[in-house]
Amino acid sequence: MDVMARTLDPPRRDLCTDCGVSRTSDPRRCGRACQFIRPDYARLERRVHGRERDPARPDELHFGPFRRMLRARLRAPRPGAQWTGITTRIAERLLETGAVDAVLTMKAHPDDRWRPVPVLVTDPADLVHCRGMRMGYAPLLALLEPARAAGYRRLAVVGIPCQVYALRELEREFGFERLYVIGTPCSDNTTTENFHRFLELLADDPATITYLEFRADYHVELRYADGRSRTIPFLMLPISRLPRDFFPLTCRTCVDYTNVLADLTVGYMGGQGEQWLLVRNERGEELLSLLGDELATAVPGSAGNRRAPVKGFLANTLRAAGGLPLRSMPRWLRPVVGWLMPKVGPRGLEFARARVEMKACETVAHLRREQPKRVRSMVPPHVWALVEPYGLRSGAGERDR
Ligand SMILES: Cc1cc2nc3c(=O)[nH]c(=O)nc-3n(C[C@H](O)[C@H](O)[C@H](O)COP(=O)(O)OP(=O)(O)OC[C@H]3O[C@@H](n4cnc5c(N)ncnc54)[C@H](O)[C@@H]3O)c2cc1C
Ligand code: SF4
Ligand code: SF4
Repeated sequence: MDVMARTLDPPRRDLCTDCGVSRTSDPRRCGRACQFIRPDYARLERRVHGRERDPARPDELHFGPFRRMLRARLRAPRPGAQWTGITTRIAERLLETGAVDAVLTMKAHPDDRWRPVPVLVTDPADLVHCRGMRMGYAPLLALLEPARAAGYRRLAVVGIPCQVYALRELEREFGFERLYVIGTPCSDNTTTENFHRFLELLADDPATITYLEFRADYHVELRYADGRSRTIPFLMLPISRLPRDFFPLTCRTCVDYTNVLADLTVGYMGGQGEQWLLVRNERGEELLSLLGDELATAVPGSAGNRRAPVKGFLANTLRAAGGLPLRSMPRWLRPVVGWLMPKVGPRGLEFARARVEMKACETVAHLRREQPKRVRSMVPPHVWALVEPYGLRSGAGERDR
């Protein structure tokens, strides 16, 4: 069975990624649930994981509470998946084993492979249509009420961090008997319309691009409908030709890259070419155990030093004054540095730490510039701790926690 999102009430707030809450029967829920008002990660981490992140434990300041981290891949990668398909395979297993009545996730719009459309899936075979990454956001949580109305009592949700934050704030109101949350990291998202403009700059026939990923080896990978693939070093991307407002302020300032409130986070940043899993609590262990021998795992590695790249990124962000952080590097040097970065730049967990710190720097820099009054409420303590080594400290009136 397949239920598409209805369109009740469009979002009204200026900082909003249309997570779907404003489209429920009570749009006032946004005031209680929205990540873009006064996010309280410590409280929710305590409720979901039994404790908040502990900066004394390695990597928790950066990645949130977790029990263990893994490099992982499905021994039989699934066609059409973004990486090997761990996310949708777990969702399939939840349905196959009867652990849940339905999975709430995204599928591709029938007319646009890049546009996410929320869907409630009850037949495991239908998850094949959900594989792969779409760019943009869509009102996932608008289907929570229809899920209850359809009688689903045990639900799994696959979501990006701003959706998962609102879900955790509201989960008790919806009263599911059991809720599993699989989260993916998310950063640099934009509207599907903007993303199409980016694709137009990358290829003469953008409609033939079927896959895109910003890989941890500093290259974007593109795949085409005819089976070809191509990689482009980050430094050679046509960033300078994108409009200044290409990334909305929400996605430049959100404060949870790694989806810390999920039971299990499935990403790639710390995976050195494979997937990267953060098992955050007992329910996350349960989700992972559904894969049994299908999963090959290893200990994540770490190499390089993030300090200089993060410092450089912050300087570029400040110089860009609200636009895209272009590097002040001559054109001729770019291919050389593009070749060098995967060899000498931060790799594995150090790459993931670097990306989390860059995002934290962006949050502070962009909010200060565009919505200074919101710095106080929107920047949680862990973000201040992440940016401090780079000389960004809270000023007068910028901090209430
Ligand atoms: C916009 C975006 C940015 C991301 N950025 C990073 C990043 O910087 N670092 C990182 O480690 N990982 C990032 N990810 C996650 C990563 O791309 C993979 O989705 C993840 O590693 C799972 O791979 P998989 O093969 O297990 O997924 P699959 O089995 O292919 O399943 C993908 C799942 O993601 C859901 N999904 C796809 N697009 C969206 C969307 N737009 N909104 C909500 N759900 C969606 C699908 O419905 C499906 O359930 C990002 C994901 C998105 C959507
Ligand atoms: S809770 Fe969701 S729908 Fe409501 S304002 Fe926030 S992002 Fe938008
Ligand atoms: S970048 Fe942040 S705000 Fe934007 S869609 Fe992803 S999680 Fe949501």
